Amino acid sequence: MDRKFIFVTGGVVSSLGKGISTSSIGALLRARAYSVTAVKIDPYINVDAGTMRPYEHGEVFVTKDGAETDLDIGTYERFLDIDLTKINNVTTGQVYQRVIQKERSGEYLSQTVQVIPHITDEIKNRIYQAGIDDNAQIVLVEVGGTVGDIESLPFLEAIRQIRFEVGKENSLFFHVTLLPYLETSEEYKTKPTQHSVVTLRSVGIQPDGIILRSKQLADESVCNKIALFTNVAKENVFTSYNADFVYAVPEILEQQGIGRLIEKSLGLESITPELQVWHNAIKTLREPKYQTDIVIVGKYIAMPDAYLSVMEALTHAGIANNAQVNINWIDAETLANGDTESLKEFSAILVPGGFGIRGIEGKIQAAKYARENKIPYLGLCLGLHVATIEFARNVAALKDANSTEFDPYTPEPVIDLMPEQLEVEDLGGTMRLGDWPMKITKTSKLAEIYSERLDKNNIVFERHRHRYEFNPKYVSILKKAGLKISGLTPGMEGRGEGLVEAIELENHPFFVALQSHPELTSRLMRPSPPFKSFIAASLARKND
Ligand code: GLN
Repeated sequence: MDRKFIFVTGGVVSSLGKGISTSSIGALLRARAYSVTAVKIDPYINVDAGTMRPYEHGEVFVTKDGAETDLDIGTYERFLDIDLTKINNVTTGQVYQRVIQKERSGEYLSQTVQVIPHITDEIKNRIYQAGIDDNAQIVLVEVGGTVGDIESLPFLEAIRQIRFEVGKENSLFFHVTLLPYLETSEEYKTKPTQHSVVTLRSVGIQPDGIILRSKQLADESVCNKIALFTNVAKENVFTSYNADFVYAVPEILEQQGIGRLIEKSLGLESITPELQVWHNAIKTLREPKYQTDIVIVGKYIAMPDAYLSVMEALTHAGIANNAQVNINWIDAETLANGDTESLKEFSAILVPGGFGIRGIEGKIQAAKYARENKIPYLGLCLGLHVATIEFARNVAALKDANSTEFDPYTPEPVIDLMPEQLEVEDLGGTMRLGDWPMKITKTSKLAEIYSERLDKNNIVFERHRHRYEFNPKYVSILKKAGLKISGLTPGMEGRGEGLVEAIELENHPFFVALQSHPELTSRLMRPSPPFKSFIAASLARKND
């Protein structure tokens, strides 16, 4: 079969959940046993998402090959149950960087380098290459931003050209728009969608299907009206209405016949999708047997998207434990003075990744509270750093212990910059990124946690994104004081025992901190082991 391309554009407003629509289409195709990949186009000029503030842009997702990407890449991985790489996130910055590099090296010698064809060719190459690299029968391409934005124009032009090149039978356009509800007149308004499709048509793209984001399923009269004004058959107007769980969206779209449209338009045979895992997950989400209240002590708490993968991993872990995980948030700064009363009501504490000094003392207090009161604690990356500092200060009596990230002149740098980072000047793409191995100590909590995944050398891989590490000079001191080092990067023995990947406390029901970000590889069908055990521990505590 020829490779097929499905393009998803967005209109009216941003943050419509285009990523969820794209991922849901991908999930429905995977449920029909097609090999699928997905490309996210981000029209901003940053080369990647790594240098953007999580507060503004949400989480930076890291792929196994170490790309710092948009959080939609994480949604694709979770919904499609595949691993993606650098090639799957295309930005204006990358495209221009490459074209300018080629121009300087003389690859376009004697030509005038222009948006069309040079920039558009580079965009098309990347989309085609993703299909080849991932050996995909179907390539999904989501164009970030909103139709009408100046910066999306070259991308829209490129996808218009792809349809021309691969033909109508191998390409399909979906346009996702907002269908607002006016409370005063009690009606849904279709005009924004009409205008948005006009804008899309003005760049030569006629959508084949429309996905309306709205509160409720759009009724027939709304669909008729949209069909009339947009030239899209009314059965190809779908509603992605507000769902109780994002994992319900694939089925919501399937029920309205989106799969049938894709099959018919792309000449695919008609297949009943295998959606059992989704059904089971949703059933547990809707009727869980247990409940647990956990708290995330973070600094970007007004923007939960900054912790999207952590929240999803907790949800997956809840499903695996037949439990609803209620996620609560505490701003780390509010704990800094040592008043940890607000932590009392929760069955478990999670300290996620982060950068910079703000909120650090509060996170250290949270780790102390968890250690002293035997509350399950899961530390992720920075969560390992603060747990180490806390232990060093309050158990090993190194009262000035700190990380050089927060106090460059600390007399006890228990967390320090990795030697590899000393020479690093640029901030983009220069952390220790992507998959790295962790060798797990045999008799440890961590070995139990990962028991199903360990190979014969007791090694697992997790994704990373950090510059600082547990200072190897403090390993023996902190071990003597009772800290257990349960994971090390193998092959770094020149650095004392190696780079510390995990710590834990004995005589504690669950106190585990990892240098990695296991949340990034958690899937509905395969929850992350540390998360699964963390939730099990929180439930055990509740039933104590
Ligand atoms: N700021 C810390 C570092 O750079 C932790 C990073 C993180 O939590 N991802 O090492």
